[in-house]
Amino acid sequence: MTRTVTGKHYASLLYETEQAVPEPLKDIDATNVVGLDMGLTHLAIDSSGRKVANPRFIKQAQKNLKRKQQALSRKKKGSAKRAKARMLVAKAHERVANARNDFQHKLSRQIVDDNQAVVVETLKIKNMMRNAKLAKHIGDASWYALITKLDYKAKEQGKHLVKIDTWFASSKICHACQHKMEKMPFDVRSWDCPACHTHHDRDINAALNIKNQGILKLKAEGLSVSAHRGLRKSGISPVAA
Ligand SMILES: [Zn+2]
Repeated sequence: MTRTVTGKHYASLLYETEQAVPEPLKDIDATNVVGLDMGLTHLAIDSSGRKVANPRFIKQAQKNLKRKQQALSRKKKGSAKRAKARMLVAKAHERVANARNDFQHKLSRQIVDDNQAVVVETLKIKNMMRNAKLAKHIGDASWYALITKLDYKAKEQGKHLVKIDTWFASSKICHACQHKMEKMPFDVRSWDCPACHTHHDRDINAALNIKNQGILKLKAEGLSVSAHRGLRKSGISPVAA
């Protein structure tokens, strides 16, 4: 039993499930592998072109939290009003955390249900977290919490979460012909490959590279990844968030 600052009680239930955890899938269909590019413009962008933003209700809860924090900072130290304001901040914090948690549970459930393997790039996240300028945004995005949820939900179904933790230039490589660009400044949102002329949405191209890298890693681990149904062709129209 845990007790939060606002006095709510959460019982952590541990239960034995009847079913054993299934054996991990050994034969994977490449069309059921999804790459996720996690970044700052969206919470995640997948290799099929879907862009997932942090939903409005989380943003509203964050705004409310900010207002409560500002109110707290104006209260006199040691006063009863300050104690009350502190409690309101704690409650607002809890609402943000609950809203995000709930959303991430639904999102990860859907991603795992729809795919046999999910590929994420963890080194990129680590690098972004080192960048002090990005720290504020990163606190909001909480990719690690999403990855943790994806990880255990995948295991429950015998599916795979592939973590790419070595550096590779997911944004600079053309997923269609592997041509590597010298530079890819952060403000370039779309580009044309000079070698094969494919038009790329920056983030979807990165997600496709992450997917391909994940397939290589699965194969290196001895799994069979078939492409008999054909890999999705490039030139997917991105879905607006
Ligand atoms: Zn190309």
